[in-house]
Amino acid sequence: MPTQDPLPSAAASPRSTGLNRELALLRVLLLTGCLAISLIWALESAFGQVAPWDRVLYPSLLGLLAVASALLTWAPRHSGVARWLAVGGFNLYVPVALAHVLFLSDGPPDEYQLLSNLYWLPMAYGTAFVFLSMRSALWLSAVVYAATFGVILWHVHRGDMALWPAYLPPMMNNLAVAQVVYVIVLIGISRLRAEAYRNEAKLDLLRQMASTDPLTGLLNRRAMGRQLDAAMSLVRRGGPPMSVILIDVDHFKRINDEGGHARGDDVLVEVASRLQAQLRLSDALARWGGEEFLVLATATPAAPAAELAERLRQALAGLAFTGGVQVTASLGVAQARAEDSVDALVRRADDLLYTAKHAGRNRVCTELPPDQPQRVPGVTSM
Ligand code: GH3
Ligand code: MG
Ligand code: MG
Repeated sequence: MPTQDPLPSAAASPRSTGLNRELALLRVLLLTGCLAISLIWALESAFGQVAPWDRVLYPSLLGLLAVASALLTWAPRHSGVARWLAVGGFNLYVPVALAHVLFLSDGPPDEYQLLSNLYWLPMAYGTAFVFLSMRSALWLSAVVYAATFGVILWHVHRGDMALWPAYLPPMMNNLAVAQVVYVIVLIGISRLRAEAYRNEAKLDLLRQMASTDPLTGLLNRRAMGRQLDAAMSLVRRGGPPMSVILIDVDHFKRINDEGGHARGDDVLVEVASRLQAQLRLSDALARWGGEEFLVLATATPAAPAAELAERLRQALAGLAFTGGVQVTASLGVAQARAEDSVDALVRRADDLLYTAKHAGRNRVCTELPPDQPQRVPGVTSM
């Protein structure tokens, strides 16, 4: 049975909310990445500093990010591939460019090229920890770290140290240690984020529990109270007419007494689903008390609300319930007046419900304002 959710924040699951936030962030990152690469490329061109390998790597990286953006826009179900392309692009660039600096260039390493690659490394780890699972991010970071500093160490061990300016080896040591610190910080942030997701999920569950009747899955009295307050304030401001239908199952105690409490519960669940099946999307249904239900019919004056109530009555009485039980209900229908409080409105519906009970049960009772048709088939009007 569809349950109604009065709290907009409960409409999407926290996981999907978190996912949407991540995808929005990924879009921003992709755009920023494309702009940054283009800007760096343009500035390096202006200063004649574009390395030969960057003539291939820059357009490749831009292409990769463009494919990831296209996937996110036109095939969001492949967002997993888009994440790996974006993260993989950033993470691959540094070791590949570095290998070129160290091995494919003659003479001592070009300091500008060496350092301008290495300071992008935290960005590579950062994207991995934001967009991949912690395990994947750790693996990727370890591989990139090994590929980067492993290559540097290898270079040093080949005996090329003498070619390096004196400040470079200690700086490489510093950088190697700093990378480990970055990754530890990122692991901490990643754990905090996972905990935030878990708390959000718990909060969402609590919110849902606070507004839902556990037996029928309908809104509970508290949640319906909030909807009635909102609907009533609209009526007071001259909005469209609104009516409530109060429904009480007849002789429900007998059903419990004859079939047991569990059978009574089953009947309540079936009552809820039969009532719900008759309603429009704009109507709200709540379990108001033990065997009482309340329909809030927005944009509905008393006469059509009484017709709806009669359909609800027939939906219960027309067909035996599971297990052969015959169930009827009495209904009271009241239209909201501008001067009503929510309590006053529900009390009027309750009075009409008890009139229906005293008139013999299994019937609808309403009060029709003078400007509306004075007869609704099957309905007793006051
Ligand atoms: P009437 O036609 O006058 O409304 O008679 P009734 O028997 O329906 O009304 P009464 O108020 O005497 O009894 C309501 C019964 O509903 C008593 C209570 O035990 C039962 N009830 C309330 N909540 C639940 C529930 O969640 N499950 C079950 N199985 N029974 C419930
Ligand atoms: Mg009752
Ligand atoms: Mg009853």
